[in-house]
Amino acid sequence: MNGVRVRLLGVRGSMPAHGPSRAVFGGETSCVLYQAGDETVLLDAGTGLLWEGLPEALSQPRFTLLITHAHVDHIIGFPMFSPFFRPDCSCDIYLKTRDGRTAREQLETLMSPPLWPVPPGALRASLTFHDVPPSFDIGGIRVDTMEVPHPGGATAYRLSWRETSVVYATDAELLSEDVPAFCRFAGGCGLLLLDAQYSEAEYRVSRGFGHMPVDWAAEVARRCGARQTVLVHHAPMRTDEQLLAWDQALRQKMAAIRFGRAGDELTVEPMRTDLQG
Ligand SMILES: [Zn+2]
Ligand SMILES: [Zn+2]
Repeated sequence: MNGVRVRLLGVRGSMPAHGPSRAVFGGETSCVLYQAGDETVLLDAGTGLLWEGLPEALSQPRFTLLITHAHVDHIIGFPMFSPFFRPDCSCDIYLKTRDGRTAREQLETLMSPPLWPVPPGALRASLTFHDVPPSFDIGGIRVDTMEVPHPGGATAYRLSWRETSVVYATDAELLSEDVPAFCRFAGGCGLLLLDAQYSEAEYRVSRGFGHMPVDWAAEVARRCGARQTVLVHHAPMRTDEQLLAWDQALRQKMAAIRFGRAGDELTVEPMRTDLQG
């Protein structure tokens, strides 16, 4: 495989959402499957981690999980991901130490009373927990990271493999003064997955909650020169009808941008980016 395969497994933000008016974009919270060469990387562990067939789709029982931050919509799938109960599974888990709490401590908090009945010791897989360094390698994949503005902090990841680059930046409230640094980090990427939770009206009453309005996210994507942008972290109550209308309006203003849907399969080729699905 020359290109990178990216599959969106959860694009809902803050809370899972359900019902027929959310069936098109899906109600699963943040999770993305990234595959390049022999490597499999999962980005975030929201309820999308429980996507049907995902355990079977992992090419081997060794993979990497990159977590942006430990807000519950990004880790709630962790305690029930079936590969973690397999002794032949091994996983490197990256989550930035925050408030003096390591990656392991943050995830074990979720699996502790009164929040969860099964202790972390029940997980049979070989799990190796890591703080998030500025840059590191996963096999042939170069990973660069950046802290983005979000209450409590969040990590954006840039994954580069051969001539491809994918940036995952959800839960980011980038103000004007943050954009130059973000563009240096994400500039020219083949695929940008970017937070766009709010309408303009919602943002007026949600400023400081750590997410961006749609039009501003589109402007950030334009300034970054991302070849393709997929907007994620849709508000829980956002309906398909609203997202489809916004999607259409946005695409009339700007090429190569759209709202992500759970189940979307994206292929990032070395010299160009094709979106399908
Ligand atoms: Zn979130
Ligand atoms: Zn968050």
